[in-house]
Amino acid sequence: MQRSGRLTRGAVLTLVAVAGITLPAQGQELVKSKDGAGVVGYKDTPILPWTKYHKHDPDRPQSPVVVPGRPSTPDQVGTAPSDALVLFDGADLSQWKPNEWKLENGEVTCTKGNLETVQSFGDCQLHLEWQAPDPPRGPQMNRGNSGVYFMKRYEVQICDAYTEKIYPDGMAAAIYGETPPLVNATLPPGKWQTYDIIFSAPVFQEGQLAKHAMVTMFHNGLLVHHNTKIMGPCAWRTIAPYEAHPAKQPLHLQAHGNPVRFRNIWIRPLDTGLRETQAAP
Ligand code: MG
Repeated sequence: MQRSGRLTRGAVLTLVAVAGITLPAQGQELVKSKDGAGVVGYKDTPILPWTKYHKHDPDRPQSPVVVPGRPSTPDQVGTAPSDALVLFDGADLSQWKPNEWKLENGEVTCTKGNLETVQSFGDCQLHLEWQAPDPPRGPQMNRGNSGVYFMKRYEVQICDAYTEKIYPDGMAAAIYGETPPLVNATLPPGKWQTYDIIFSAPVFQEGQLAKHAMVTMFHNGLLVHHNTKIMGPCAWRTIAPYEAHPAKQPLHLQAHGNPVRFRNIWIRPLDTGLRETQAAP
């Protein structure tokens, strides 16, 4: 394979094939980015019609580097990614308005009164971990009932749905009163469960709804909502219409009189919408 310390063309082609690299053919020249960063790509390719960039353009903005968080394990609570706002890491409740929830052993337990963030949010990615009381207490809607209220209005339900004794649009991971999750991924009471939710805020124009709120969500790693439209604010036994509100609002964790526990809560605001690296048509 080697001859006088140099690779033969055949060996180079073999290495290239193994590495999955496409070598430029004649007339297809790799060029370097204008900013001197040494990024290579092409400028003799078509412009992607939904952007101002060539296909494989080296001058297209690089995606920002984010250090991922560490998932929770049975022995260790996870951590947030480097660009997240940590809402609760077990140390304090400084990201939440004054409340009576119980902070203990790196967890916060619901007592009374909703837990409300200091900051307001619109589009966001939210991660949280929760645990229904063990042993279970109370019937149906009082079995570990809490909830994530985006913008103080739109609830993703939290409750002990392990025994499936509640109406489907009120079970864990349901858009409460509207849409059940695709699957029931609920774990037994006393087990930590994860919610990973991408929430898109509704848009109002001149006081009228122009775009519904949307939710994509994973419960314990399973897809339970995929661009699910939220049809209105959370309501019990009634259908509530949208009412215009500010573009950003605080997040609530619901108090329903059940000692649901929470840990490892972080949020990534997505206010810029689609970033320049993914410029839309
Ligand atoms: Mg609830």
